[in-house]
Amino acid sequence: MKKYVMGLTMALMFIFLVGINTIAAGDFKFFVETGGKIVDVSNALVNVMVEGVILKTNEIPGIALEHRTLVPVREMFEMEGIAANVVWDNSDRSITITKDGTIIRLVIGSYTAIVDGKAIPMDACPRLVRDVTKPNAKTMIPIRFVAETLGYNVEWNANSSLAKLTLTGNSLMNEPVEWNNTSGINLESLLTVTGMKLSETAGETSLLLTGTNNLDYNIQMLQNPNRLVVDIVGAATSLGYKEQAVNGRVIYSIRTAPYENNFVRVVLDLKTEVVYKVEENENLVLLTISPKDNQTPATPKKPVIVIDAGHGATDPGAMSKGIKEKDLNLNMLLALKRRFDLRDDIIVYYTRTTDIYPTLKQRADLATRVNADLFLSIHNNSVWNTAVSGTETLYKPGVAGSYEFAAICQKYLINTLGLKNRGLVKRDDLYILNHLPIPVALVEIGFMSNAGDLSRLTDYYFVENVADALEKAIDEAFQK
Ligand SMILES: [Zn+2]
Repeated sequence: MKKYVMGLTMALMFIFLVGINTIAAGDFKFFVETGGKIVDVSNALVNVMVEGVILKTNEIPGIALEHRTLVPVREMFEMEGIAANVVWDNSDRSITITKDGTIIRLVIGSYTAIVDGKAIPMDACPRLVRDVTKPNAKTMIPIRFVAETLGYNVEWNANSSLAKLTLTGNSLMNEPVEWNNTSGINLESLLTVTGMKLSETAGETSLLLTGTNNLDYNIQMLQNPNRLVVDIVGAATSLGYKEQAVNGRVIYSIRTAPYENNFVRVVLDLKTEVVYKVEENENLVLLTISPKDNQTPATPKKPVIVIDAGHGATDPGAMSKGIKEKDLNLNMLLALKRRFDLRDDIIVYYTRTTDIYPTLKQRADLATRVNADLFLSIHNNSVWNTAVSGTETLYKPGVAGSYEFAAICQKYLINTLGLKNRGLVKRDDLYILNHLPIPVALVEIGFMSNAGDLSRLTDYYFVENVADALEKAIDEAFQK
């Protein structure tokens, strides 16, 4: 009993002495147990600095064993400046470290690392190391091998027992990415993205986008891997396809490309989750990005809808008296687009704005890719019986909000257009309805096969009314 109390007192003394964030000067003793042996590492403690920040740990700091510095893998490689992902597998005592697409697999006691599937010898091996004052061992790995594999330069200062890690290459702070092209402006497009600049100060990362006109944007935070996606909606680009790796605090690469459906996408590949805020000023949009734990409130997401004009190109849809459904659908979509072009509170993507034929899968994929909240498809009807007329809206039962969205569309169409109310139609055999988990309404404005309806459908003012009705319906759907 007495021995136990003594042991406990000793342990408490050690905790008092070594329970510190970084290594203090002084002649305290630090013993670890590794591979069944107790080792005095009092004179072998190592501080680690990553991009100017000292690694803080309440556990074992870095230690030099057999002239190689080992560090606790989780504290070291998950710290903010590195932000790798560390997974421990107890079944084979392996550690997997993932960062920016590089995968390093290490096994306790093994001098071979597997880097992106290739075996590479190391001059030190990972070990389980237990501070003798603590119950559990820590996984410690050779810092130089892993840090260099992840693209860091490791500098060892023997006098101060300091291992300094810095990213190789120039940092984003010293070398902003700047793309501009004002000579390639697309005159056919109302809006062209002509410039972007990614830069960094000590506190913040910013992305500045420049257009020829007001920029309508949709921003999404995506995970696995973390990336920030900015879509400039309804825009062409004079920058074309561009991609560049950067050494940023939170960003490791930026790319941009025009997208087939009339928008320009900018992707920032992230080292860690971030928050952002957005400021707009005429033709400029400024995104300020910081790591998530900095508590900057994120800008609330604007609602997103995809509007589809049915059919297109070689698929005319219904036909009557030389008039093709694809053209009526597109007219109605363009009238609606003219309205939304004047607004920036709702983000709208269009499956087509010209006479092209995106496949049904491409139309559904667009909604998935832009993280749409609603999908509206515009069609017109036809049937052999020319007496049949009126407006109906199709929806798929069982998808939350689908019935409601369809009912809202139908309500405004009936009230505004005054065609016969054919009500809501349940359908479960339509691709778009079946392939999206969001509310989808497919409006059939009128019957082309009916002479009365057809004369309305081709009338300019009627088409404007269709757009009015659908704009109001979309507004109401987003208020719910
Ligand atoms: Zn159709």
